[in-house]
Amino acid sequence: MTPVLIDGKKVAADVRARLVKEIEELKAAGHTPGLAVVLVGEDPASQVYVGSKVKACAELGIYSQKWALPAETTQEELVELIHQLNADDRIHGILVQSPPPPHIDEEAVILNIDPRKDVDGFHPANVAKLVLEDETGFVPCTPLGCMELLAAYGIPTAGKHAVVIGRSMIVGKPMANLLVSKKANATVTIAHSRTADLPGLCRTADILVAAVGRPEMVKADYVKPGAVVVDVGINRIEDATRPRGYRIVGDVDFEAVKDSCSAITPVPGGVGPMTIAMLMANTVKACRQQMKH
Ligand code: NAD
Repeated sequence: MTPVLIDGKKVAADVRARLVKEIEELKAAGHTPGLAVVLVGEDPASQVYVGSKVKACAELGIYSQKWALPAETTQEELVELIHQLNADDRIHGILVQSPPPPHIDEEAVILNIDPRKDVDGFHPANVAKLVLEDETGFVPCTPLGCMELLAAYGIPTAGKHAVVIGRSMIVGKPMANLLVSKKANATVTIAHSRTADLPGLCRTADILVAAVGRPEMVKADYVKPGAVVVDVGINRIEDATRPRGYRIVGDVDFEAVKDSCSAITPVPGGVGPMTIAMLMANTVKACRQQMKH
């Protein structure tokens, strides 16, 4: 069977087009959505991510501030900046790029972000709202993007068995919560590093979500014929044939599973492009809510 290739670039472009209209409306009412992105240290991958987020804001007409702080910034200095941004009326969303340097307690920093500006959806108040299915909260961007992809391709979730591999607070757990919600109505199993007979369990999935961080771990024997496969993984593997010396692969062995699944998100070009699009959507939502528009 030839699977449907779920095109994240296209769906992300559709989301952005929708947002452009919403932003125009907000601006006409005197409100410009604003996002502050805070980076501590010089991690090259984080610098790229922060750059892409600021660029995405500029393309959509969202006001942005980029704070690049030196690696030796203290926890107190970072928290002081967060408080300043909490009080800044131009800023509706605040994001601290992960991971910060080891001397920074990331969870403690997140607790200082005003939950109404927590567009990453990591503050416990927003985790609670997700579990409570209170839609005024913010949901982490990557799982939100996965749900958007399923919806854009008309993939039904109600009554389906979804297996999510991975239990992180950034992807696995919020993804499972979204799938089990009354909106999606899937029956959900969360698998992790201690799950027994992982391939056997995954073979019972109608929808298989891989968020593990292990290159091409999901092989053909993990996939039931006709299943939908969502590959969240972004892994660099060495490849001397590429100019950069590496290539990006997912957590799913695409070549091995493509003949048995009905639809799949490729890596790159599947889930990846959705994350920033959903960050922009969360920022617009934050602006709407704060401006009561
Ligand atoms: P994480 O390391 O926080 O969590 C990985 C999870 O996988 C853990 O819960 C662990 O229990 C589980 N796991 C590890 N080894 C396993 C095994 N052998 N069998 C079963 N489960 C196992 O990672 P994360 O932040 O959730 O990210 C997961 C992947 O998604 C990574 O490749 C990451 O780069 C990618 N990611 C992509 C995006 C995006 O924008 N597309 C965003 C965030 C993360």
